[in-house]
Amino acid sequence: MRFDLLTIFPEFFTGPLEHGIIRRARQQGQIETLVHDLRSFTFDKHHIVDDRPFGGGDGMVLKPEPLFLAVETLLADDTAEVAGKRAAVVLLSPQGRVFDQCEAQRLADECSRLILLCGRYEGVDERVVEHLVTDEISIGDYVLTGGELPALVLVDAVTRLLPNVLGSETSAVHDSFVNGLLDYPHYTRPAEFRDWRVPEVLISGHHGAVAKWRRRAALLKTWQRRPDLLAAAELTDEERAWLATLSNETASINNQ
Ligand code: SAM
Repeated sequence: MRFDLLTIFPEFFTGPLEHGIIRRARQQGQIETLVHDLRSFTFDKHHIVDDRPFGGGDGMVLKPEPLFLAVETLLADDTAEVAGKRAAVVLLSPQGRVFDQCEAQRLADECSRLILLCGRYEGVDERVVEHLVTDEISIGDYVLTGGELPALVLVDAVTRLLPNVLGSETSAVHDSFVNGLLDYPHYTRPAEFRDWRVPEVLISGHHGAVAKWRRRAALLKTWQRRPDLLAAAELTDEERAWLATLSNETASINNQ
């Protein structure tokens, strides 16, 4: 997967792509991250990328010409094309579709390349939205000062879903949202910390019992914190019946 990050602050990306799994994925050639300065797609002496809004009002708007030129130039380099996959031109915008795990998986499956446009100021000229962008994505219902952090969120969430990027193919399988539930709780040594013991079943060595406990714990956590997810989750009749027996006062995975 190739990520092209188009920004007026290229230095923004210097640190965040150099750690952990993203760094390893870059080193192993599983992803390529190319940062492009929007100002280098201008022809005037001062490399101006923004202008005042028509109709008046506060703030500045990113002009269409540099964005169109940049994306068209980047798309002309089709070395990252993979048969059957598409190049998405993504505008990070609070007005876009709200990003979630399904959307991350969809981009990981469908695309060989993501061109990520990072807005600033009041945003971008609407003709960019109408005629250049293929996907408009928001990372949540709040407004940030720029699209660089949202772009990094996409790079991270999509990269970890690419084949062989995580240590094992199954590493993401139990993650929150992947199967419609939140993840189960995790514990590590020591088995007793202060007065708090880890659930006995986890140190019992019974793999079947551990798997059952984890499934129940994931169901319970989802029921407690994100009951909205349960409607779409794949549950057995037995699990639905068990959830129906829960009540707020008594529910705890450690007394199931
Ligand atoms: N005037 C715009 C509005 O209210 O919809 C907000 C512009 S915001 C200050 C500047 C840029 O930050 C946007 O163009 C976008 O690229 C980015 N941005 C801000 N919040 C975002 C969010 N929740 N998701 C994705 N991008 C966001």
